[in-house]
Amino acid sequence: MADPVRPLIAGNWKMNGLRRSAAELRSIMAGAAALAGKADLMICPPATLLAEFAALAANSPVIIGAQDCHPEPSGAFTGDISAEMLADAGAKAVIVGHSERRTLHGESDDLVRRKAEAAHRTGLAAIVCIGETRAEREARETVAVVRRQIDGSLPARATESNLIVAYEPVWAIGSGLTPTPEDVAEIHEFLRQRLTSRYGTAGGRMRLLYGGSVKAANAGALLKVANVNGALVGGASLAASEFLGIAAACR
Ligand code: PEP
Repeated sequence: MADPVRPLIAGNWKMNGLRRSAAELRSIMAGAAALAGKADLMICPPATLLAEFAALAANSPVIIGAQDCHPEPSGAFTGDISAEMLADAGAKAVIVGHSERRTLHGESDDLVRRKAEAAHRTGLAAIVCIGETRAEREARETVAVVRRQIDGSLPARATESNLIVAYEPVWAIGSGLTPTPEDVAEIHEFLRQRLTSRYGTAGGRMRLLYGGSVKAANAGALLKVANVNGALVGGASLAASEFLGIAAACR
């Protein structure tokens, strides 16, 4: 990973993309050079496309990441993919603890932490996702929830190069809703304090991404919030022009 203080715009394609989607990656790569001074760009395609995308992007500024990994390096885990396999396919990073994994696959903070440790074991950066549900927000439990998640999901040791935290309010993912910049500022300041008290100077430099309905039209307001060092983007990362528009909004 490049300079840890440069913003990162990471696209999570989720279960979207076929081999013909390489055309979209090519468009992102074509626009990336002009944005190289503003932000690092990452695309996390489904596992079926990792090796092909990593080969395509090998000489471009676009980083290829994965969406999940198993904590073990190998073994009898049908259907799972280890961090070692992701690295072998050319991934440089992996998302762990996305709310869709926590909710739909029942992933706990402890499992997410072990996945992040597996990423580090094999030299991948881990993008650890946290965030409160709508009910938790309405019960005013946001800070307590993200505190529990950040304390339980992050590895004991990490550097500014290999750990990225994405704050993604669950109710904002795919809904078109976003918190106000003031709300984002409050949570990101809290997370920054937590990272600094845990990892010292490195925690002060780790990238904190905001995720949840980011698009080109709202990226400017969200990306200028203090302690927001980029975005994790779902739906809007599937179209090159929208994704590049988000990156262009970085200061
Ligand atoms: C996500 O799933 O990580 C995400 C942020 O999705 P969207 O941008 O579509 O809300």
